[in-house]
Amino acid sequence: MSRLYSSGVRVGNGYDVHALREGLPMRLCGVDIPSGKGFVAHSDGDVAVHALCDALLGAAALGDIGLHFPDSDPKYKGINSLELLSKVVAMLNSPVPEPVEGPAARYIISNVDITIALQEPKLRPYIDSMRETLASVMGLKKTQVSVKATTTERLGFVGRGEGCEVWATVLLITKRAKRPLFRT
Ligand code: MG
Repeated sequence: MSRLYSSGVRVGNGYDVHALREGLPMRLCGVDIPSGKGFVAHSDGDVAVHALCDALLGAAALGDIGLHFPDSDPKYKGINSLELLSKVVAMLNSPVPEPVEGPAARYIISNVDITIALQEPKLRPYIDSMRETLASVMGLKKTQVSVKATTTERLGFVGRGEGCEVWATVLLITKRAKRPLFRT
């Protein structure tokens, strides 16, 4: 089974929602967005980075962001979510950490694709900066990182300006471990 786990490619998806409230800061993909509203959160509320972290963890079957960085832990209060992303990327290059039992493998990130649903403001002016920021933290080229934005045509909670919804998809390429870290 180890051989099966440690070969080939692995896909992951992540999803997150944060509520919007007047007067709070808005940060998406590590970029501060001028806006009258921002995200209600224990961390900096970067809902896009949270979805990305979950996609990366999901692809490696390493649990989810809430498992590794619980919002009940005061040390994560107000934390820059890029720090969490950096830790997740490190996990992909390390022996599988506690408390998750996973495959004996390390991973290269092939590409990531993120879709942000937000009614306003328009994110177009910030997309390039978002891609550069995420690529830099993950050690990737900008061409490996896609960030897309859409409104929901004023439908639903996103359309009413009550929250932001993000989906992330990633593809990992498995590097074969020199020897099994443990048997699966
Ligand atoms: Mg979140």
